[in-house]
Amino acid sequence: MTDPLFREDAYLQEVAATVVAADAGGLVLDRTIFYPQGGGQPGDRGELLLEDGTRLAIVNTTYGADRKTILHVMGDGAANPLAGARVLARIDWDLRLKRMRAHTALHLLTAVLPYPVTGGAVGDGEGRLDFDSGEVALDKADIAERLNALIAKDAAVTTRWISDEELAANPGLVKTMSVKPPTGTGRVRLVEIEGIDLQPCGGTHVRRTGEIGEATVTGIEKKGRINRRVRIALSRSAG
Ligand SMILES: [Zn+2]
Repeated sequence: MTDPLFREDAYLQEVAATVVAADAGGLVLDRTIFYPQGGGQPGDRGELLLEDGTRLAIVNTTYGADRKTILHVMGDGAANPLAGARVLARIDWDLRLKRMRAHTALHLLTAVLPYPVTGGAVGDGEGRLDFDSGEVALDKADIAERLNALIAKDAAVTTRWISDEELAANPGLVKTMSVKPPTGTGRVRLVEIEGIDLQPCGGTHVRRTGEIGEATVTGIEKKGRINRRVRIALSRSAG
């Protein structure tokens, strides 16, 4: 099992760690800041710096079969460091921040469009969600205006843990029907955007909605009789 430091602090850009295993699937560290692909968010990229100065490019991050071990996937031809090796693990922060901004914007989109979510994906400064919105007419400009009003509130984004039992007693917390929050470990992480949104999520988010930047709605596609895909893009860099 890998200690997932990104769950408590998504802003960590590098961390010292120890290689505990290396196999064909990827390198396992005792702890990591690399987010493994899941919940619609891609796996982190970055590099591992060995003590002898070697840099190992990490091209993706995934979960192992047990869903607890995190695998750092190396590029073709890279030699595995030995177990016990000390590394400095550094993520591609520019890429991650774009994903954190897009991911947080998608939470806000579920507040703008309060319909069941059937799927979604986080991209690099853009993203999409599919909604069972029925026959309601969706308007790009109207959605963008309401989304940007929520971003402008600069609301705080915080996390806390609840038990599986508490989640089961509050099924309304689960907006995403296609991606059930992981249960079975006894606890589930809730992500709250102050006064706007509360839902279980294991992804990485910015600390305040103001960091998202201005959003535009780039597309609304009909995916089914009552299902619509809404695409957003962030039109400027953060900060
Ligand atoms: Zn999230």
